[in-house]
Amino acid sequence: MRFSGWRVIREGLTGNRGWGPHWRDPEPRPAYDIVIIGGGGHGLAAAYYLARAHGLSNVAVLEKGYLGGGNVGRNTTIVRANYFLPGNSEFYSLSMKLWEGLERDLNYNVMHSQRGLINLFHSDGQRDAFARRGNAMINQGDDAVLLDREGVRAMLPYLDFEQGRFPIYGGLYHPRGGTARHDAVAWGYARGASDRGVDLIQNCEVTGIDMENGAVTGVRTSRGAIRARKVAIVTAGRSGQVAALAGMRLPVESHILQAFVTEGLKPVIDHVVSFGMGHFYISQSDKGGLVFGGDLDFHPSYAQRGNLPMAEHVMEAGMTLMPAIGKARVLRSWGGIMDMTPDGSPVIDRTDIGGLYLDCGWCYGGFKAVPASGFALAHLLATDRPHPAAAGFRLNRFRDGAGLMDEEGTGAQHNLH
Ligand SMILES: Cc1cc2nc3c(=O)[nH]c(=O)nc-3n(C[C@H](O)[C@H](O)[C@H](O)COP(=O)(O)OP(=O)(O)OC[C@H]3O[C@@H](n4cnc5c(N)ncnc54)[C@H](O)[C@@H]3O)c2cc1C
Repeated sequence: MRFSGWRVIREGLTGNRGWGPHWRDPEPRPAYDIVIIGGGGHGLAAAYYLARAHGLSNVAVLEKGYLGGGNVGRNTTIVRANYFLPGNSEFYSLSMKLWEGLERDLNYNVMHSQRGLINLFHSDGQRDAFARRGNAMINQGDDAVLLDREGVRAMLPYLDFEQGRFPIYGGLYHPRGGTARHDAVAWGYARGASDRGVDLIQNCEVTGIDMENGAVTGVRTSRGAIRARKVAIVTAGRSGQVAALAGMRLPVESHILQAFVTEGLKPVIDHVVSFGMGHFYISQSDKGGLVFGGDLDFHPSYAQRGNLPMAEHVMEAGMTLMPAIGKARVLRSWGGIMDMTPDGSPVIDRTDIGGLYLDCGWCYGGFKAVPASGFALAHLLATDRPHPAAAGFRLNRFRDGAGLMDEEGTGAQHNLH
């Protein structure tokens, strides 16, 4: 089933009776070449690129709940390529390019909107750091514009420029940054993978990983045992638990990140605005709701929900930046489980166990990484060689200390970034 403007018109005129399910709902087969554990953005994208780029479709994605029910459907949808360090910057640059062609590639409207992202800074030192970051982005081939205070005021007149707590000195503007509709991204990849023969198995929890002679032979699931030559763990906040099924202890801690949405309002915010010092960021959804969030909850947890102290912290930071939001009514808040690595950078790698692969450690920024992560993991699974753009995302860096990517500049300590 192809989507097109003509199809929408025809279906609209004929009672919308021609739309079918977007993906098949197969029974699990006894064996596959490749099993991907986790039907989030990264798992589904990897399955799609395995089939599309490598012609491998004897693949199953096993999801314990429903597709898109994890963080891929819970995030605040920001897409950006404003990373600073080699290793990360080329990877997110690749991801941005894949985003820019994604709707055409998937024939699916993921509502990718390059409305621009502005990171505010509040001191001379921060301005220097952002100037360096902007130069690194431009050197990488991405875009960045350093704005002074008046430049920010011209673009974001609704901010409070008089508050003295975090005075606004300026901002780093990333015009190609923006947002995309999160669950549509999961659905688009799911549809593309299923159409190419990948089996997407929902309500199928992996409860064990079978091994013989140091190599995986398959998985045990709530829907029976499945044999596989290769198994990839792509379970975001649950990575530590799932890797433990294979006897591995990961350098990952799981923490909650919360987000909030208000009632629908007329258009007021036409960019994504990030207020690093106050741990607050905000954009406006296409339905009009203000979508915002803040910092991590620092207590490690697997509870997929938020808590009031962090809600208070986020509201306080938001009111400092943009007091007008105090008039909007918050409709919902929710939480997701973040897989935090010590250096704030991810892992796409083989493990010491033969045939077992890992894609995790996306911290609070893995949505924008979905296309490149899927692309790079598919490359690794198909060729057994790391994709050049993801070559730094080795698991061993936490064992031998070489190649740590301290993107946040806070040292190799998860609870500081
Ligand atoms: C509130 C919030 C805001 C965020 N904002 C942004 C943002 O603006 N921009 C950005 O880039 N990133 C953001 N993120 C981070 C981003 O959402 C995640 O890094 C990314 O979605 C994680 O990868 P994923 O999509 O594959 O994870 P998930 O969607 O969580 O997929 C993992 C899947 O594995 C499944 N699973 C777990 N255990 C098992 C098992 N035993 N068997 C089978 N299946 C299993 C889970 O059910 C889940 O569906 C945010 C996250 C949150 C929570």
